[in-house]
Amino acid sequence: MEYRMSQLQALLKLLEENNAAINEALVQDLHKPAFEAEVSETCLINNEIIVALNNLNTWMTDEYVTKNWATMLYTAYIRKDPFGVVLIIGPWNYPLSLLLIPLVGAIAAGNCSIVKPSEISKNTEKLVSDLLPRYLDPECFAVVCGGPQETTQLLENKFDYIFFTGSPNVGKIIMAAAAKHMTPITLELGGKNPCFIDNACDPVTTAKRVLWSHFFNAGQTCVSPDYVLCTKEMEEQLVLAMKETLEEFYGKDPKQSPDFARIINDRHFQRLKALLGSGTVAIGGDYDEKERYIAPTILVDVKETDPVMQEEIFGPILPFLTIEGPDEAIAFINQHERPLATFVFSPDSKVVDDVLQQTSSGVFWSNDGMMQMTLPSLPFGGIGTSGMGMQHGKFSFDTFSHHRAVLLRGLGMEGLNSIRYPPYTERNLRL
Ligand code: NAD
Repeated sequence: MEYRMSQLQALLKLLEENNAAINEALVQDLHKPAFEAEVSETCLINNEIIVALNNLNTWMTDEYVTKNWATMLYTAYIRKDPFGVVLIIGPWNYPLSLLLIPLVGAIAAGNCSIVKPSEISKNTEKLVSDLLPRYLDPECFAVVCGGPQETTQLLENKFDYIFFTGSPNVGKIIMAAAAKHMTPITLELGGKNPCFIDNACDPVTTAKRVLWSHFFNAGQTCVSPDYVLCTKEMEEQLVLAMKETLEEFYGKDPKQSPDFARIINDRHFQRLKALLGSGTVAIGGDYDEKERYIAPTILVDVKETDPVMQEEIFGPILPFLTIEGPDEAIAFINQHERPLATFVFSPDSKVVDDVLQQTSSGVFWSNDGMMQMTLPSLPFGGIGTSGMGMQHGKFSFDTFSHHRAVLLRGLGMEGLNSIRYPPYTERNLRL
């Protein structure tokens, strides 16, 4: 346990001593606002480390289980063994926290780890590959850099566990590579997260909460509300409220705001620019290719068949689709792949409960978004095409631990066994 704690402490120290360099790398990669960098990267990792340090002793303790009459003379417990060497592959949108939060779980559970940052967030990739070997035990922890080609080579090796965060398409490649070695995996993936807004909502409060969740990191968040479902009447009120809210958040020209991030690279910029052609632009819609800036954009008159509804948006574009009410919203959600997050905005707990009961998703949030990320006592993970497995707090520890069943008995009291040995007689059958 001391070794695991020392490595977790070292990770804390890495964050403390390199805060400025971390924030700078995130600015270089994503123009990430300082507040967003603090709360969604360093603070979240810190939080996970502190929870692990405070609970490691309890998590590691053997769990004694209840026994039945047949095993009364045995000792029965669950032992948490490390898997061995784990591979952690990260994405570019929260390039530090989505790499190091799983690493906290892997260290806590006693594994050696190879971490593979995203090559797309190249400044953070470089920082991680410089810093980790200086703080963590190089005998046990290593960083491998590179893109698809290098990762393909890496995946030819036999790992004892693979933890992947990224897109569903690459998730399939990871799963196929893991299958060759029968390696267990966690896949933290993405998809289109529906956000149903009920007619009874206060448009101003709702606009603030939805827009903060959506435009945080310029919409490049796996748990961002991907599209809004509401009635035409509600849409009109929300668009008015959202116009005011966006001005409050980012001023008259969001491009000048220090609080609005940029698109990660040219490929994603071009992809998003093409999506601006869906429906009608109600707010925003402008862009600057040189800066990879896309204005916070609201699209209305969007149809299910439009390009913006065919893929996870992962950018600062929020389309509205109109429906008649909660039943139609539930039916719409159920016609699509199971999302990572489902959002419901309504003051009526019956409406919230109806959507909760009648749909399926990795996580479910009402009247807010993203705050779960601060709460390691809830499991975080997808379902179906949005992923498998879970993380945060003890869920990360369990993910990276093999729960080994242990049943121990001495050699005494052999006479009692005669009732289960052949030749079987009437006496055996009466057992
Ligand atoms: P991505 O799948 O393109 O890349 C993720 C990682 O896989 C990177 O490290 C990359 O180098 C590697 N990779 C890419 N192509 C590969 C290949 N052919 N073979 C092997 N490895 C390969 O994802 P991304 O663009 O970095 O991130 C965006 C996606 O991640 C979105 O779908 C988003 O929803 C999802 N995501 C999910 C979570 C979550 O916690 N569920 C968090 C963040 C992002």
